[in-house]
Amino acid sequence: QSLASRSNKQHQILVCVRKRPLNLRELKMQELDMVSVPHEELLVVHEPRKQVTLAKFLEHHHFRFDHTFDEHCNNTQVYERTARPLVRHIFEGGMATCFAYGQTGSGKTHTMGGEFMGKQQNCRDGIYAQAANDVFAMLLLPCYARLGLTVSCSFFELYGSRVYDLLMSGKPQLRVLEDGQQHIQVVGLTEEPVQNTNDVLTLLELGNSVRTSGQTSANSKSSRSHAVFQIVLRSAAQKSLRGKFSLIDLAGNERGADNCSANRQTRLEGAEINKSLLALKECIRALGRQSAHLPFRGSKLTQVLRDSFIGGKKVKTCMIATISPGLHSVEHTLNTLRYADRVK
Ligand code: ADP
Ligand code: MG
Repeated sequence: QSLASRSNKQHQILVCVRKRPLNLRELKMQELDMVSVPHEELLVVHEPRKQVTLAKFLEHHHFRFDHTFDEHCNNTQVYERTARPLVRHIFEGGMATCFAYGQTGSGKTHTMGGEFMGKQQNCRDGIYAQAANDVFAMLLLPCYARLGLTVSCSFFELYGSRVYDLLMSGKPQLRVLEDGQQHIQVVGLTEEPVQNTNDVLTLLELGNSVRTSGQTSANSKSSRSHAVFQIVLRSAAQKSLRGKFSLIDLAGNERGADNCSANRQTRLEGAEINKSLLALKECIRALGRQSAHLPFRGSKLTQVLRDSFIGGKKVKTCMIATISPGLHSVEHTLNTLRYADRVK
């Protein structure tokens, strides 16, 4: 691969990994596991080298990414290197997406939606809110202020192949339609105008409260749905789209292993999640290769995100792969690292 095309790719697709700290349960388990390697050394993130090393049995797997974040990083540090550069891009008329990908419990919602304090989530420090905050700061810059732009937000959930509006009371299911020009529209999706960060925080709290009841459990509905939060910039005069930032908290990627589950519904959901994560990988790779063919029809997720993938150089994507440090997550962690490695 030539140097030119590499740097171009890096510019368009950013792939990062974040390791979360051991939780209390894992710390307790660590005492019971009679293994010679302490959990802390199973998964080592070397930030300056942008490297992740996973020890599985006696084998070491090394990966390199655009950025790596160890267990001491906070949401602001992650935000600054991942989503923040994309905010400017939407002001320049581009489409941006930022995904959190990983096993249930690895920190996707913590990263995107904000830190948990018990059952409460501090929306303010999540990537959703920090991105919105920067959007309002950018709006004040003279070069953008004179464009007369308006900001609005959407927040929806993809559960199986169904779309639910998280900003409308009763969380109604919405239809997805494709017109003759392959434009895809989620019919009736709320696009709520917002004036400042507080407006956005109110929407996030509303959306989160209907999405989940707080913390993750491997069986909660939130771990089986993709949540999509969008910040939309329009020029006030013509209502035409200036740019859009989609921030996505993906369903847990461990569902692939779930096909022996007794429950048919759970199995079907698992199959749909697998399909969507596979389609997502293929779309990002197609984007990286600047391929004319974009396999967005592979899943509902990629279908509703289609306009965030087409448009050549006007499209930027960032993936944050979140990983759990415990011995019992090694298999899932390796899968996540391999997936992230494939899209970069
Ligand atoms: P996911 O959305 O991937 O299923 P969560 O974001 O709900 O996972 O995280 C699971 C638990 O781990 C939560 O209690 C969360 O507060 C905690 N957690 C996740 N990432 C971090 C982190 N980087 N630092 C501290 N705690 C974290
Ligand atoms: Mg979650």
